[in-house]
Amino acid sequence: MLVDIEQDGIVGHGEASMPPYLGESHETASAFLSKVNLKNIPNLSTLEDVLKEVDALAPGNHAAKAAVDIALHDWLGKKMGKAWHELWHLDPTKTPVTSFTIGIEKVKEVVRQKVREAEPYKILKVKLGGDNDREIIETIRELTNKPIRVDVNQGWKDKSHALKMIEWLATMNVELVEQPMPKEMVDDCVWLKERSPLPIIGDESVVRLPDVRKAAGVYHGINIKLMKCTGMREAMEMIHLARKLGLAVMLGCMTETSCAISAAAQLSPLVDYADLDGALLIKNDPFQGATIDNGRILMPQGPGIGAVRIQS
Ligand code: MG
Repeated sequence: MLVDIEQDGIVGHGEASMPPYLGESHETASAFLSKVNLKNIPNLSTLEDVLKEVDALAPGNHAAKAAVDIALHDWLGKKMGKAWHELWHLDPTKTPVTSFTIGIEKVKEVVRQKVREAEPYKILKVKLGGDNDREIIETIRELTNKPIRVDVNQGWKDKSHALKMIEWLATMNVELVEQPMPKEMVDDCVWLKERSPLPIIGDESVVRLPDVRKAAGVYHGINIKLMKCTGMREAMEMIHLARKLGLAVMLGCMTETSCAISAAAQLSPLVDYADLDGALLIKNDPFQGATIDNGRILMPQGPGIGAVRIQS
């Protein structure tokens, strides 16, 4: 869902991306956005206050809130004539390399085809947690020795099995493992973290700011997504808190257009790992913004979030 905010003849673009499993939809987002009334706010430059009020309108609605947050950041950056990475004093050349996701496939030939399609990218992200995990990794390794990041999406329910798998993955040039076990199994996640030869990153476990503190001691790092955490404002706070707590930081995404990906790119010089391939996975991207250059995120030009609408 695309959202525009306009004041003083300046338009800010925002976006809500809503994977069904998180419970938001066009209906819920429309209902939430209909409650957001910025018309009575004389000066949208007071972004902190405005976003706090928007957050307080109703619980949940994280992606819908992110749409407002991104549009407001875009609007304010354009008003000031600066990109957010400039306003935050970040070096636009220090963007990370992004991974490119290959979905779970039963058929060896499909895995091979996907590895070939991922040729331009330096790091592969592979979803495991099915019954042919080893076969998927071995099939990829027949074709390439590129670093792999594994995302289990809570798929391993037994800690000993999870440890055995991670120990094996460590011998296969795998860099890290995301959310190996269900988020509710905290004690088992702690047990696993203490023994794992690879960094373990919490994703489903870490939604908003209060979850960052809970993740310390349970994971080596966290995966921050704008659509989970209500946008750029809270993502920045989460990054700073994670650093204080000694946690590694990954910046991820849902399936998103170049609008929300460009917003995330503004923050990306601050993180260790990027998984910002959302716009590469869609055919009808209505925006131009952050791109990938030799595997690395190329910071978009222009003020605000740096995304330009190329079709309505
Ligand atoms: Mg994940």
